[in-house]
Amino acid sequence: MPRSIDETGVMPADRDLAELARIIDLARRAIVFTGAGISTESGIPDFRSPGGIWTRMAPIDFADFVASAEARRETWRRRFAMEDTFRAAAPNRGHRAVAALVERGTAAAVITQNIDGLHQASGIGEDRVVELHGNTTYAHCLDCAQRYELAALRRTFERDGDVPPCAGCGGLVKTATVSFGQAMPEAAMRRARELTLAADLFIVAGSSLVVYPAAGFPELAKRNGARLVIVNREPTGLDGMADLVLHRAIGDTLGAATGID
Ligand SMILES: [Zn+2]
Repeated sequence: MPRSIDETGVMPADRDLAELARIIDLARRAIVFTGAGISTESGIPDFRSPGGIWTRMAPIDFADFVASAEARRETWRRRFAMEDTFRAAAPNRGHRAVAALVERGTAAAVITQNIDGLHQASGIGEDRVVELHGNTTYAHCLDCAQRYELAALRRTFERDGDVPPCAGCGGLVKTATVSFGQAMPEAAMRRARELTLAADLFIVAGSSLVVYPAAGFPELAKRNGARLVIVNREPTGLDGMADLVLHRAIGDTLGAATGID
């Protein structure tokens, strides 16, 4: 058992970890805001990173998906090509630390830009996860919202080369993600704003804060009087306004600060 930071006297390298733990201890209504960086540690690629999928292959716009059967087939082909990666991904130490903060009542909820469902898989209730960009682990009808499971759609796609329209209403079926050019989900955006305005601590974990409007939430929290902490491997545009910035791995940092393995 390593000795705790308090017993050893704070080592310079761990001073920011101790400060993070102290700030978390003071919080009563924290919000954790997560981005790709927390999930890359589970093997989910960051589509936007240099060398990521979207730098090699243009994303398909929502308008094209709706207008073109060929674009829909290409969208599904790409999605099913990723399925083994998504299915193999499990929550990591960072997800477990976030789940512990919610379980302890320190954090009211997690707001995420991720679409992989790993926060729910870590044990956080659906009602405590606000997904700003939707969820790629299932599909739904764009018209009536009927849910469809990917495994069944994949079998049909591999047999017929196509995903059929909604059995209930004939609408187009698409993963439950927010695509490029698709409107942000109103309910999730409203809820994220309410949670942000009620927060006394806003922890950014693994987001470079470049994708708006999602990246506006930490700024809103800070302007509203919350403490702002940023844990991200690379610098972000909001580092200058944060109370504490840690350019470190997400899982080990949040794990150490919360005592979670
Ligand atoms: Zn439908």
